Amino acid sequence: MSGIRILSEEVINKIAAGEVVERPASVVKELLENSLDAEAFRIEVSISGPGLSEIAVSDNGRGMDRHDILLALERHATSKLSSYEALSRVETMGFRGEALPSIAGVSLLEIVSRPPGELAAHRVRVSGGRILETADCGAPEGTTVRVRKLFFNTPARRKFLKSDRVEWGHIEREVIARALGAPGTAFLLARAGETVFSLPAASGLQRRVWDLWGKETAETLVPLAGEREGVAVSGFLSAPEDSARLRKGLYILVNGRAVQDRGILFALREAMGPRLPRGVLPMGVLALRLDPAEVDVNIHPAKREVAFRAPARVKAAVSAAVSAALGKKSFPAFPLGWEDRLSPDRTGLPGRAVSGQGELFPADSLREGAAGDGWRYRLLGQARSSYLVVEGPEGLILIDQHAAHERVMFEKFSRLLEADRGESQQLLAPIPLELGALEAALLAGQVPHLASLGIEVEEFGPGSWAITALPALLTRREKESLAAETLAGIGEWEKSPADPRREIVIRLACQAALKAGDYAGPEGAARLWRDLLVCRDGSCCPHGRPTRLTFSWEELEKKFGRRG
Ligand code: ADP
Ligand code: MG
Repeated sequence: MSGIRILSEEVINKIAAGEVVERPASVVKELLENSLDAEAFRIEVSISGPGLSEIAVSDNGRGMDRHDILLALERHATSKLSSYEALSRVETMGFRGEALPSIAGVSLLEIVSRPPGELAAHRVRVSGGRILETADCGAPEGTTVRVRKLFFNTPARRKFLKSDRVEWGHIEREVIARALGAPGTAFLLARAGETVFSLPAASGLQRRVWDLWGKETAETLVPLAGEREGVAVSGFLSAPEDSARLRKGLYILVNGRAVQDRGILFALREAMGPRLPRGVLPMGVLALRLDPAEVDVNIHPAKREVAFRAPARVKAAVSAAVSAALGKKSFPAFPLGWEDRLSPDRTGLPGRAVSGQGELFPADSLREGAAGDGWRYRLLGQARSSYLVVEGPEGLILIDQHAAHERVMFEKFSRLLEADRGESQQLLAPIPLELGALEAALLAGQVPHLASLGIEVEEFGPGSWAITALPALLTRREKESLAAETLAGIGEWEKSPADPRREIVIRLACQAALKAGDYAGPEGAARLWRDLLVCRDGSCCPHGRPTRLTFSWEELEKKFGRRG
């Protein structure tokens, strides 16, 4: 045949688009990956129109100037890959420079973008791959890509689309997969102008899972954690017996990229064993991290699959992590919405009783910012709003929060005593004390002792006293609780103590300490435990009551008949 011809650019683009842009969800996926590569920390996806053919993705990432926008629309134009060698260690989601020209070839596309710090935004409109307009415009920093009339010029492709319900399912899945891969980025998904979900930027995968699937589901998922031969595995999966009931999909992430992988599925099924019903997959997210050089991301046209250099190692790591997690089937240490209840500026308020009897804290609540070797302990929660439950190398530890806090406060004050000077902090508004005549007289006698501890009181008028300064080392909560109760109760103090300052210190410690029933919250509880660890004598409170009970692992094993 002598009819060999080079295909026109238009046909080439449509063929290429066929591989990358299969359905509306493919567009969503590519645009989200571009926003993530642009380091956006807020991304909004909005879907509408017949056949879900109108797709807009807005981000607050690094944006493009006019020149970049035009270049991005050229095939094989990418800012992410500069050499063949770099292809062996890809750390961005995109790298081929195919998505935007492919999408542009089969839709009406508009890109509006403004790099941070630039005065103006630029807009470029393309129809079926042909540039219609470029113009300056006003727009916030970041990028918005709007796709309309998807597949308007490829009727064959349009015919292959499924019902809106099915296509929507695919879209939702793509957004969720990216949201799980990037917990630090806020995501909003809207359909026909209505918000489907809005996920705030999260501190980690656990919180993201919680926000995405809700407390009830999240609590039933089993946390995974493990590392083996350079493959780190984390995530949250339903237990095999819950999997048939909880069908919210399984997401596999490799270095943050959502992929499909039969080998991993196989390992997962095997590790779950016969407890997993046939044909059922667990729901949840399985996240793997390994050296990018160990992963070939360039084997699938839409980058939905990857190839591992050592697939057996990856499978072994997955299998080990899943078996370990199921073997333990430990409590799902999920936060009970505490982040919301406990905004930073409220943590300083006097402790608040919670209605619940017990509270589970996030698994890493002690590790975060823990001093010294505090990380060896894990704060599991608060029971009866009175006892902290901690897991440590020596065993399971129950802490009486009031006794513990008393000890901590006592030592804080004792250090002031030894230094013979308390650094005090002047109060913006002096706190008036309601004192009877007797109390006022008693207080007057204590002024120098109090001052040496950093507590300043002043007489404003006859018999009318107020606190004007408090020790700088107290937290705000401790200060308020001191101010409210302690000094006003001076009448009940021992009349002529041998060591008045020590008496004051014990009183203050007791008064300012958390009471049983006070809500310490994870941060407060973690701080308390760390403070107690560094106490000189943390085992009992100043009155001699124990601050904690330890059940050694050996003791527990014996009691449970696991060893003789
Ligand atoms: P790839 O992602 O493979 O590089 P694309 O066609 O998806 O190819 O995008 C081409 C280029 O356009 C990217 O390399 C990037 O420089 C730029 N780009 C695309 N989307 C965005 C965005 N949302 N923000 C900033 N730059 C973008
Ligand atoms: Mg891309």
